[in-house]
Amino acid sequence: ELETINVFSVATGHLYERFLKIMMLSVTQSTKNPVHFYLLDTYLSPGFREEATILSESLNCKVTFVSYKWPPWLRSQSTIQRRIWGYKILFLDVLFPQNLKKIIFVDADQVMREDIRELWEFDLQGEVYGYVPFCDSNADTLGFQFWREGYWKDLLGDKPYHISALYVVDLEKFRDRGVGDILRATYESLSRDPNSLSNLDQDLPNFVSNQVPIFSLPQSWLWCESWCSLETKVESKTIDLCNNPLKKEPKIDMARRIIKGELFEKSWEEMDEEVKARIGDGLVGRESHDEL
Ligand code: UDP
Ligand code: CA
Repeated sequence: ELETINVFSVATGHLYERFLKIMMLSVTQSTKNPVHFYLLDTYLSPGFREEATILSESLNCKVTFVSYKWPPWLRSQSTIQRRIWGYKILFLDVLFPQNLKKIIFVDADQVMREDIRELWEFDLQGEVYGYVPFCDSNADTLGFQFWREGYWKDLLGDKPYHISALYVVDLEKFRDRGVGDILRATYESLSRDPNSLSNLDQDLPNFVSNQVPIFSLPQSWLWCESWCSLETKVESKTIDLCNNPLKKEPKIDMARRIIKGELFEKSWEEMDEEVKARIGDGLVGRESHDEL
C-alpha cells in the first residue's frame, strides 16, 4: 500500500487561489501515491473552498482546511501577506492533527514536474526540516542576494541561505524538539524591530539554523527563473513563479510564459483549462445528483 503524502499550502486572493488549484493538479498527477492537502482556511474565499472540494473528488485526493487563531501574546502583523508568512512557519506544531508525522509545504504558485514521493522519502539525516538552498546560477540577479555578505554572511558562515517556497518537515521531531517555541520566541524578539524579518517566513528558519539545523535538499528541487539559470530548467523537479527583482512581470504572464514547451506534458494554460473543466463537471454531477 502506498503511503499518503501530506501537503500544506496557503493562499489568499483570487490569483493565488487559481494558482493553488493548478498546484494541486500538478502534484496529484505526477505521483501514484495518495495525496492529502492541508490548506490554511483563514484567508480562503468560500467559493474556493467549494471548488477545492469538488476538485479533490475529481483528482481523487483529500483536502482538509486547517486554522489556528493567532495567539494574543504573539506580536501580530498588520498586513495579510505577513500574517500568511507567519502561518507558513510559526504554528506547524499546532495546525495539523497531532498524529501527522510529516508534511511538505508547497507554495501555491508552484508547478510540480517530478513525483513528490522522491521528496517525501528523502532522508533528512536527523534534521527537523529540509529546505533547498537559493539558486546562484543566474548571474543577472546575483547582486540581489543580500545574504552573500555582511550580516547574513557572518551569521550563516559557510551554510547556505535557503529558499522557503518548498520544505519538508518532520513533524515528530519538530514537536519533540520544541521547534515551534524556538521559532515563536525568536520571532517575538526579532519582530520588535519592524525592519527585521523582511522576508518573515524565510528569514526566520535561516536565522535559527544554528540552533535548528536545516538539511539542504538538492538544488533541482526548487527552480525559479529569477535565481536559476535557463540551462538548469531541464533538471527542475518543481518550478516556483517567484518574483524577479529586475522586472515587474505579472505572475499570470510569468505562468503562461514559463510553464510551456517541451519540458511540460501540459502547459499552464492547459492545466488552467483542465481545472475549470473538472470543477464544472463536478458541479454538474452534484446538480444531477440533487435532482434524483
Ligand atoms: N501568498 C498568497 N497571496 C499573496 C501573496 C502570497 O496567497 O497575495 C502565498 C502563496 O501561497 C504564495 C506564497 O504566499 O505562493 C509566497 O508568496 P509568493 O509566491 O508571491 O512569493 P515569491 O515566490 O514570489 O517570493
Ligand atoms: Ca512562490
